[in-house]
Amino acid sequence: MSHPTVSIVGAGLSGLVLGRCLKQRGIPCIIFDRDTAAAAASRYSYGITLYPWAYRPLLRYLDLNEASFQKTVAVDSYIGGVGRLSSHARPGLGEVDGFRANRRKLEKMLREGLDIRWEHALTEINTEDGSNSMVFGNGQKLQTSIVVGADGPHSQVRRAFTPNSNFTILPYAVYNGKCRVDPKTFEDKFTPHMSGANVIEHRIGQTLLQITIADRTENAVSISYTYSRPARGLADLGFTPERSAASASRIPDQLFDEVRSLGVLEAPFGEVFDAEKMRTDRLLNWLMRSISVDVTELNTGAGRGILLVGDAAHATPILGGDGANAAIKDGIDLAEYIVQNGTSDLAEFYRTKEEAWRSCVRDGEDRLAKMHGQAGAIFDASGEGPILIVPIGSQLDGIERVYEISARTTMEDPIHTRCVTRWTGSCSCWAASSAYRMTRMEAAE
Ligand SMILES: Cc1cc2nc3c(=O)[nH]c(=O)nc-3n(C[C@H](O)[C@H](O)[C@H](O)COP(=O)(O)OP(=O)(O)OC[C@H]3O[C@@H](n4cnc5c(N)ncnc54)[C@H](O)[C@@H]3O)c2cc1C
Repeated sequence: MSHPTVSIVGAGLSGLVLGRCLKQRGIPCIIFDRDTAAAAASRYSYGITLYPWAYRPLLRYLDLNEASFQKTVAVDSYIGGVGRLSSHARPGLGEVDGFRANRRKLEKMLREGLDIRWEHALTEINTEDGSNSMVFGNGQKLQTSIVVGADGPHSQVRRAFTPNSNFTILPYAVYNGKCRVDPKTFEDKFTPHMSGANVIEHRIGQTLLQITIADRTENAVSISYTYSRPARGLADLGFTPERSAASASRIPDQLFDEVRSLGVLEAPFGEVFDAEKMRTDRLLNWLMRSISVDVTELNTGAGRGILLVGDAAHATPILGGDGANAAIKDGIDLAEYIVQNGTSDLAEFYRTKEEAWRSCVRDGEDRLAKMHGQAGAIFDASGEGPILIVPIGSQLDGIERVYEISARTTMEDPIHTRCVTRWTGSCSCWAASSAYRMTRMEAAE
């Protein structure tokens, strides 16, 4: 079977895996990414948990055995480690068979031998007579019959056929910090308490403290840490669903007050969660976002030869989500689908993935709740339960309406969050999350 060249937008995990698998099966593909090659080589140095169900099927395409793969990409490969997780990485969730990979090292390995066109930020796709014209920010245009959007949660490819898909913002206040310690300090103050693990967690009530190793080198141990808890309503400065990407680095004093109020923490958490030290670290306020694109809309794109994979189709919250694993699996599965079936019925690919994608998002949200000691599912699809959906980004148009949205994080522990949103009149983007019931209690211009 002869195959048209597959144009992949995004040289992240799903795009690179798809590229590697297609190349290995002799199917031509080109990957376009908005970043420069230099930026790509120095980005994403953080740990991600990879599970065998996602990475084992990839090994034969990389021609590697499991031990070599782990030794190359593990966060602690510099000291000969294999990214040992921790029996407490997800308390009570019984998942201990994964390992911690450094995402930068993984992407470096995946990029080998691929045709990647850097500095190609896709801005639009126009479809005419069965052909797609991709337009890039650098002024270039390219005709192609098959486009795969592997361009992450803010996918530009997705906007080409479903401009109104919107994120669900989950009601959590989450901060991430990064710091480095020298190897001697690490040996003295961290190693005795970590039992060789690369992720440790400590929960105080519903507040979760997490320390993860991002990378180890001769001179430093890079640490990424998170402070997270359920949101506490409108006055909660830690939960800012409408904030712009640029204001993620604006950290309210409330965070430092909260950290101080935790008192003396057991080692090594006290080393990291020290309000004064944290002020000097690179801190970000993270939003816990998910998105599930409706299959009818996906099929509209498939009819034009445009497919989505990874976070572009089904983003899960950073904490609790398995987005990297799902992205890897998507890349492999799509390549195998194309090898077996060609590209004439792309919608059929979605039929093979639909249920898995839905549960990937649902499970991510559920795990996020459990990580914070919230016993039941965070959202109750039966209609009795909570919902918090806040339109953001491209939906903002300066028209102010006030909505009160009821949000309840567990059946036992209701919280109510008031949200002030600026948004055009229709509720169409809420429909994207129609699995959940939302109560619009009030609307005023
Ligand atoms: C700090 C952090 C920790 C995480 N930890 C885990 C974990 O432990 N386990 C887990 O499973 N997941 C984890 N994730 C999530 C995981 O990294 C993502 O789900 C995964 O990378 C999604 O892969 P993707 O290929 O869909 O998108 P991405 O990997 O985000 O790649 C998107 C690519 O598209 C490019 N791009 C974007 N827009 C354009 C455009 N317009 N034109 C051209 N190129 C474009 C980007 O430059 C990028 O290269 C974590 C995420 C973060 C941020």
